[in-house]
This record gives sequence, C-alpha cells and structure tokens, in this order.
Amino acid sequence: MVPLRIAIIGFGKIAIDQHIPAISANPRFRLVAASSPRITEQTGIATYRDHRDMLAAEQLDAVAICTPPAIRYEIARDCLEAGLHSLLEKPPGITLGEVEALERLAAARELSLFTTWHAQHNPAVAAAADLLAGKRIAAMAIVWREDVRKWHPGQQWIWRPGGFGVFDPGINALSIATRIFPGPLVLRSAELLVPANRQMPIAAELTFSSPVAEGELSASFDWCHTGGEAWTIDLTTTDGIELSLREGGARLFLAGEERLGTGPPEYAAIYARFLDLIDQRCSLVDTEPLRLTADAFLAASRTSVEPFED
Ligand code: NAP
Repeated sequence: MVPLRIAIIGFGKIAIDQHIPAISANPRFRLVAASSPRITEQTGIATYRDHRDMLAAEQLDAVAICTPPAIRYEIARDCLEAGLHSLLEKPPGITLGEVEALERLAAARELSLFTTWHAQHNPAVAAAADLLAGKRIAAMAIVWREDVRKWHPGQQWIWRPGGFGVFDPGINALSIATRIFPGPLVLRSAELLVPANRQMPIAAELTFSSPVAEGELSASFDWCHTGGEAWTIDLTTTDGIELSLREGGARLFLAGEERLGTGPPEYAAIYARFLDLIDQRCSLVDTEPLRLTADAFLAASRTSVEPFED
C-alpha cells in the first residue's frame, strides 16, 4: 500500500519528541514536509516557514498540527480546505466554536478530523474506563502539579490569551477524567490564581458534580510544584473499588496494587487511530475536556498573585 504523505505544522517540542518518532515508526505514513516560522533544514523532508507555501507546493494526504493552540483554527481550516485529513494536537482550539466549525468543514469535505487528547491513549486509561463502566462514584480527586519552568522553558504563548496557562497540562487530566468517568462531569466551581503580570492562571482549584457521583469531585492544578511531578487521579466507587491513575495516566493501581495495561504507547496509538479514521473516512472530535476548561474560565473567581518571571 502506498504510504500516506503527511506533514507536520508547528515544529516544536512535541513535534520533535513524539510526532516524528511515531510517524517514522508507522509504515503507512511518510513524513514529507514540515512548516514552522523558524524551522531549519531537516534531513529527508522539505521545510517551509509558512504552512500556506507548503500546502501550495506539496502533494499531501494529511497533516499533524502541533502549533500553539491560539493559531490552530486558521491553520486547520486552510488544511481542510486544501483537502487534507487533519490531526490536531491538544487542545484542539481555544474555543468550542472553533472546533465545531472545523468538525462541520471536515464533514462537508468528507475528510477525517482527529482531536488527539494524547493522555487518553495510554493503555491504563482504557483499562480504568472499563473498570468504572456502569459504576457509581463515591469520590474523585485529581492532582496535577508540575514545574512550569521544567516543562515549558521559555514558552511565552502559554501565558497569552488562548494559551491556557496551567490548564495546558491540566486539560490532560480533564481528558482522562472525561474518558474514564462513567457519566457526565459538570463543572461547579473554579478558583484561578493569575500572576499579576500574566493573562493566564498559574494554579486552579475546580469542583465538579455528576449524576453518577455521590461525593466530592475535585481537581487541583499547580504549576509551581518543584521536586517531581504529581499527575494523579484517585477515584473510589460506591461498591468499594479504589482506583488510582498515576504518572499522567501511564500507570493504573487498584487498592494500591499495580495493574499492567497492554497496548501501544500514546503516540503510536494516536497514529494507528488516525489511520483507522482515514480508512473509514470519519472524524473523531471530542470537545468534553475543552468544554470543562471553558466552563472553568466562565465560572471562575480570580485572585491576582505575585508576578511570574521565567
Ligand atoms: P512549542 O515547543 O512552543 O512548539 C510550537 C511550535 O509551533 C514552535 O516551533 C513554533 O515556532 C511553531 N509555530 C508557531 N506559530 C506557527 C505557525 N503560524 N505555523 C507553524 N508553526 C508555528 O510548543 P509544544 O510544547 O510543542 O506544544 C505545542 C502543542 O502541543 C500545544 O498545544 C501543547 O499543549 C501540545 N502538547 C505539548 C506537549 C509537551 O510536552 N510539550 C505534550 C503534548 C501536547 P516558533 O518557536 O518559531 O514560534
């Protein structure tokens, strides 16, 4: 079978760390080009400073859009209008309206649009969802704490409008929670701590409710956490299951004992799924993590805290 010709738009940390290895390892894709404002020459692929020049010059089947989120919509629209199947890094846009508009455009053009929430593709997350299916939840506590200087060194877009602040990692937790929770999650309250010199929060405390839950459902996001990451979701069910997803959804524990999941790692699974969608000419558009985030920004009380300098 002739490989699909794919290009990457936004040649930064996640493109280099994850997308290139995953595409290279999948024989049904061939990476032929990339575009990014400051891209340097890359072996074996054509490089462009502007995605529009790339779309005009290259014969492509698909794109992976790995830019900061605030510019994703315009780029994705150009790609769909050029007839390309489009994979969107998380978050798929900065508003629900953007993502819905892209979904409609993809459907009209009979193209596949894929909102990849990478953390959902851990085998442990699928196993947790299976274990919780049909259960009632007694409590859920999400703790997502990391050091912004370690994980986003020098990235300024994270603090600008549409940059998501601490929700850039926090939305990964929400993507896991919405994937494993056995019913809808509704945002009830949000408290955002925003550095005086920035637009986006550096910490957030959220609460949720759900028709399938009886106790407290909470999330705590913190970007000032040094000495190792805490990316954990703990859940108990009313019939006594104690489930813990740790290390960003990579490891599943039941009553403190690890259950080993089986399946490909996150980004290999993402590209396998993208191929399935393209083969079936359908889209996978999941807006739930973005909806909870948007609701948090709508419902939030905000407290100004000390300025943040990189
Ligand atoms: P990053 O390192 O800042 O990379 C973003 C890249 O996009 C940069 O190379 C940037 O180029 C480029 N870019 C900016 N404007 C562009 C445009 N108009 N056309 C094409 N490229 C453009 O950020 P990142 O960490 O890779 O994150 C990118 C996305 O992936 C975010 O949505 C993030 O949430 C998601 N993600 C990140 C991680 C992670 O661990 N970092 C993990 C999973 C998902 P310049 O530098 O020249 O501006």
